[in-house]
Amino acid sequence: MRWPSTAKRLANADDTCRAPHQGILEKRRKPVQPRIGITCDLDLGTGTDSRAPGRPTHVLYDDYVQAVATAGGVPILLPTATRGDSVAPYMQVLHGLLIPGSPTDVDPACYGEEPHPRLGPVNPRRTSFELAIVRQARAQGLPIFGICGGAQVLNVALGGSLYQDIPSQVSKAYKHSGSPDPSHLVDLVPETRLAAILRVQETRVNSLHHQAIKVPGQEMVISASARDGVIEAVEISSQPFVIGVQWHPERLFADDEASRRLFSAFVQAAATYAPEG
Ligand code: MN
Repeated sequence: MRWPSTAKRLANADDTCRAPHQGILEKRRKPVQPRIGITCDLDLGTGTDSRAPGRPTHVLYDDYVQAVATAGGVPILLPTATRGDSVAPYMQVLHGLLIPGSPTDVDPACYGEEPHPRLGPVNPRRTSFELAIVRQARAQGLPIFGICGGAQVLNVALGGSLYQDIPSQVSKAYKHSGSPDPSHLVDLVPETRLAAILRVQETRVNSLHHQAIKVPGQEMVISASARDGVIEAVEISSQPFVIGVQWHPERLFADDEASRRLFSAFVQAAATYAPEG
């Protein structure tokens, strides 16, 4: 008996493998619900409102989870890993990344500045994890949504800088802290991704920040500003969804169409990124 040539054997093997299963696999394929990683706050247990004084605890406000789930995503809560270089395993399961707000500030050393007297508390472990996972997500082309402190982390991760304290560093600025309900207007920059998503020229937003973006990061452009000049949103326009907003759409989500559009656009971008399976 003569063995068939290698090419023929491979061709036969290929046919054998494909024929019975191919049709079934194709029929089963459908778009997956995108898995959205949301970083948690690492409450160090040192603040007066800490849940467990002295015991570091991961926490995340439920409205982030609700907004992602309502928009069709599967929220995956991400703990702050103990080492910044251990983000790769998380990235293997995610289709989108949401960086939420934070009660702490980014250490200004991360953008090459010395601490201003009005700098708030910092959380080095959370910040280093978030900077690492944002950079990895950006390298992989993952949709990224930064909210408030998350927009600031996104900006710093991509090489930008921040005002450490708006009242003392931006002259004639509005009051940007302490308004969970819509307070000041923002103007959208025409032809940005954000303007296309929100489909308005201006919108009134809530404002719970004492810091703001100073210089946008690499490839980032300003997509919204308050009328006092404070930057309220940045994005990478060449990407389907790499957007940071300084306000809190998750807190307006239930009643505000623009906030719902923002989460829907983010989850849809993640669904497009997600492979079919
Ligand atoms: Mn504001």
